[in-house]
Amino acid sequence: MVRKKDQFPSSVISDSLYRQNSILGSCRNLWITYKSYNNTGMDAYITVDIGGTNIRCAVFDEKGDSPMRYKKTTTLQNNQSAEKNIIQVIKESWPDGFNVKGISAAAPGSVDVKNGIVILAPNISGWKNIKLKKILEEEFHILSIINNDARLAAFGEWKKGAGQGHENLLYFTISTGLGGGAIVKNELIEGDLGIATEVGHITVDVNGPKCGCGKFGHLEAFSSGTGIENYVKQQLNKGFISDLLKENSTAKEIFSAASAGDCLAIKAFEQAGYYLGIGIANYLHIFNPSCIIFGGGVSQSGELIFKPFRKSLEQHVLSPDYLKNLEIKTAWLGDNAGLIGALEYLKLYV
Ligand SMILES: [Zn+2]
Repeated sequence: MVRKKDQFPSSVISDSLYRQNSILGSCRNLWITYKSYNNTGMDAYITVDIGGTNIRCAVFDEKGDSPMRYKKTTTLQNNQSAEKNIIQVIKESWPDGFNVKGISAAAPGSVDVKNGIVILAPNISGWKNIKLKKILEEEFHILSIINNDARLAAFGEWKKGAGQGHENLLYFTISTGLGGGAIVKNELIEGDLGIATEVGHITVDVNGPKCGCGKFGHLEAFSSGTGIENYVKQQLNKGFISDLLKENSTAKEIFSAASAGDCLAIKAFEQAGYYLGIGIANYLHIFNPSCIIFGGGVSQSGELIFKPFRKSLEQHVLSPDYLKNLEIKTAWLGDNAGLIGALEYLKLYV
């Protein structure tokens, strides 16, 4: 079955559906005001996807098929911290008249799920040891949970997307970085503190290039969009000639160049696919999943990356048994996987 990618158009909620009271965003003790409107008797769930550029907030009712409210804002706007902007967008999206069951936030970077702390989010300036769960619970007096965005996307794809019906699956999102998550026997793997499945940061070559995390030779350093860009830069510096590429070419431009037959661009994707095959062979040996899902912009490069990936996977996997019943799919939920995952994850706790 081919399912259309879900889209949450910004027009889903017209401004007229938001609270008329424009002072809501700046008042700190509005929760009591909100509570007084609880009269529909219906439950609602608030989800937030926090990115380096944007914060997206979606409010779902009990059915949860599509959000009844959706709002996007800039992560670091109005000279405010990201956490203040998160609070503001939640306030502006708050569904009056509903019984709000909780807030579920998908955060980038390393997240201590147990204690509700964003340990480090390199893409958000100043985000180190942010006690986001506590901040949200103190502000809204309601159950708030946080988890890593890629891991929640894995959960979303498993519950509502390409991974439905699989008991054991792996999800990888390949874009600027490389993240993901694992479902084992119908459970999301989190680890002791909740910092497990940092799938982009396994070492695939001890002599490899520097990763965004500062270590060397990680899978992300080879197979992410940044890895592809850095490879091109490095080869051009070494004297490789390309008519289409420059030192600062983006992954998207490299994709276009590869599609036009540029040798260096094709090589960049071949390298990304080759190391992706090494990394995923390692994961197959640990998890033996029946399904692997790829999301993120780079995964839309098609055969440019997947052909060398499959070849490398077959080459590095311990036995063909790991590939026998393995489905390799692209993600269904697109950018909304994190929000849908956050919703489904919240439902485990309320
Ligand atoms: Zn790394």
